[in-house]
Amino acid sequence: MSFQVHGKDLLGRIGTIKTKSGAFVTPHMFPVLDPHHRILGREFFDRVGIHAVMTNAYLLKRGLQGLDPVDVHRTLDYPGTVATDSGAYQILEYGRVGVTPEEIVGYQEKINTDIGVILDIPTGFRSDPSRARWTVDETVRRADRALEVITRKDILWVGPVQGGVHLEEVERSAREMAKRDFAIYALGSPTELMETQRYDVLVDMIMAAKRALPTGKPFHLFGAGHPVLFPFLVALGCDLFDSAAYALYARAGRYLTSDGTQLLGDMVEFVCACPACVDASPEEFMRSQGEEADTRLVQHNLWTCFSELRRIREAIRKGRLWELLELRSHAHPSLKECFDRINQYSEILERSTPAVKPHGIFYLGSSSDNRPEKLRFVSKLSGSVEEKRKFALVLPGRWRRPYHEDPRYESVAKAFDDHPKVSICFYSLIWGPVPIELDETFPIAQTEGPDTADPTVLRERAKAISEFLQSQHPKSVILVSDGPYGRAVKAELSRTFAKRTLTVLNGESLKPDAIVKSVERKLVRKA
Ligand SMILES: [Zn+2]
Repeated sequence: MSFQVHGKDLLGRIGTIKTKSGAFVTPHMFPVLDPHHRILGREFFDRVGIHAVMTNAYLLKRGLQGLDPVDVHRTLDYPGTVATDSGAYQILEYGRVGVTPEEIVGYQEKINTDIGVILDIPTGFRSDPSRARWTVDETVRRADRALEVITRKDILWVGPVQGGVHLEEVERSAREMAKRDFAIYALGSPTELMETQRYDVLVDMIMAAKRALPTGKPFHLFGAGHPVLFPFLVALGCDLFDSAAYALYARAGRYLTSDGTQLLGDMVEFVCACPACVDASPEEFMRSQGEEADTRLVQHNLWTCFSELRRIREAIRKGRLWELLELRSHAHPSLKECFDRINQYSEILERSTPAVKPHGIFYLGSSSDNRPEKLRFVSKLSGSVEEKRKFALVLPGRWRRPYHEDPRYESVAKAFDDHPKVSICFYSLIWGPVPIELDETFPIAQTEGPDTADPTVLRERAKAISEFLQSQHPKSVILVSDGPYGRAVKAELSRTFAKRTLTVLNGESLKPDAIVKSVERKLVRKA
């Protein structure tokens, strides 16, 4: 097996997993198939771009009691990668299953699975700390027993992390599993958190597990199957999901979209143009209820999941996964909460984000302030100016980038760019203070952002500019004030710098030549 990573953004990545039955691209969701009720064929899976599916080895074993094990690819009539679950979810539902951890490992080997899961003990949502501790310990014991009886090394074995909502247990579980050589690591027990929309807790759980797991192995989140969460989960480093939600939702007339679930009965027309929806209406789906409509709804739900995964991969390739999170965070208040919680981990996300991206980024206001590029800018700001100079010339940094090429102030910047006594700093709405030394570094010149903001933001930015200038200890500050932002900077600098230190030139009324002359006069007078 191999897991190769081809692209990264935040903790998200695009990868390829190779199994003995083929390769597939991550992030990927294994649609969970019912082996006794097959409604979709492999042609459909190929069309959608599904190259790995999942089924439940425990249910398969129970359904075929007494019969010889059959190759799972034959049972499902699916030649590609098949992952099998072990029955742990059934333990969560029914308390126990009538199979031993050794039996289910042996059974998965006999049915020739490609990706197998050991029989862990799910912690669940409502376990108290001592129960959580026990499920973690018992899962580790079972992992050791499984590793002893595994004979087939051509199967990728999954090491489940438990601990539930008890983060210290999740981290301990991940640390223990990391010591054992599994091809894939997985986090259990998130389903109820997703159903109750406690995404903030889910974010914490994923981060607690990721902290302790090896970064070079794929990370699977059990039971996640709603496209609305995919961007957030991928951004946190989840590579794999599995779910039967696409089918369960369809049975209840629920139509998945990338920004939420709709009830067929509440819809007048489909906005989706997937092959299942393109010629149809919700009413038709409703009218032909029963097998056919259910199948089409199942198909639509899968198309939606996989087109969202494609969108996420494209966002990673372009370096715009953060933009996708910002967009999706506006789909529902609980997703906003999820996004806000992810913001608390932005320093960790920063470390795995490429320093240079193939495309510029979008600054969309305060929701962009914790993105990796902004954090990096802030951290390198203080060290960016090598030599402290006597005069600070503060110019507007407007929509034209790099700022020193803005036609309105280009000649002013040029006149003093190499002056031994002058350092130039732009005031930018996106970045706050931008010393000319950073003006052409990525992504300052490649970022699209707004040119206006409300007074609170202007004041905040003005404060940052003032703080930066103070750290440079100039003898004299010359501000070219332009527009409301320029006036906010002027107000702030007037508060922090003495009257004789600060000179303000009105950029709106003075021509560039006049500004250059005024600055030159200042330099002579104060030299
Ligand atoms: Zn559709």
